[in-house]
Amino acid sequence: MPYLSVAHPPRTELLASAERRWRAIVQDKPDLRTAVDLQRGLLTRVIDLARTIEGGRLPRLSMPGKYLAAKLSRGVPVLLGEPIPLPTALLKTSLVGFCDALAAGGAGDVAAHIGAAVETGRIDAGSLLTASLARDQEAIRTGASHLGLAPDLAWLVAELAVGPVAHALQRALFSTATGNEPLAGALAAWNRGYCPACGTWPALAEVVDGHRLLRCAFCAATWERTIFACIYCDEQGEAFVTAAPDEQRFDRRTELCSACGAYLKTVDTTEVSPFPLVAIADMETMDLDVAAMDHHYGRPPLKDFTTRR
Ligand SMILES: [Zn+2]
Ligand SMILES: [Zn+2]
Repeated sequence: MPYLSVAHPPRTELLASAERRWRAIVQDKPDLRTAVDLQRGLLTRVIDLARTIEGGRLPRLSMPGKYLAAKLSRGVPVLLGEPIPLPTALLKTSLVGFCDALAAGGAGDVAAHIGAAVETGRIDAGSLLTASLARDQEAIRTGASHLGLAPDLAWLVAELAVGPVAHALQRALFSTATGNEPLAGALAAWNRGYCPACGTWPALAEVVDGHRLLRCAFCAATWERTIFACIYCDEQGEAFVTAAPDEQRFDRRTELCSACGAYLKTVDTTEVSPFPLVAIADMETMDLDVAAMDHHYGRPPLKDFTTRR
């Protein structure tokens, strides 16, 4: 199952499941309460925005399956390099909302300044959102820095606002590809470490019934490789190892690659996290990030596709 279409629970079920997971995090690690409260505020907005987009605001794309299949077979994620018309007015309001939530949740003026820049048009919301969907971190960082704004926060709020669109497009394009269609075949053959829809690296792998399912950190696409190798550099030899930092918890592991210096978190679970709860899975495993970084492993920047489109 190289690409897996993930169940799409109703809003109340999604929020209830998220709440259970947030409570468990705080119970286990009370010092994460503030981080959890902030994530609750942000993800609730993401869930509401996703519903609005799916309720009729999804950009219409006319890309034939054969064309998308050809892109995938060249290793190019389908959404990259396409002129995708975004619902900018709707997303601009969301951008400001995410800035407000971040400002109230601890980021203070740094976030408020970005919100004000979006609201007044000092930042062009359309360009910011388009750059985020194109996964163009350089453009967003440079643009924010020129305006004296925090580049990482600008990247984050744009990602929060465009994520629901990327997710809905990914589902719309991939879930309907079935049978003998060229796109279904190309998806079945997808064997890369990065997302076939948007090109982002996975936030982590969720292992269900022995299937190591990679979970895109942006659009929540779910896919499995046919090889067990470093997702970043394909190393399969001695340089690629799996470690469990907590000796009592072998269900939570980290894949470490000394060939490229990168790591991937891996957790055993009974079902994959629906969008946007992959972010909660990421927070639940923060101790694995810390352990990997303590050993000088890191996560590589986004893959650059600009020369390959
Ligand atoms: Zn993706
Ligand atoms: Zn590697």
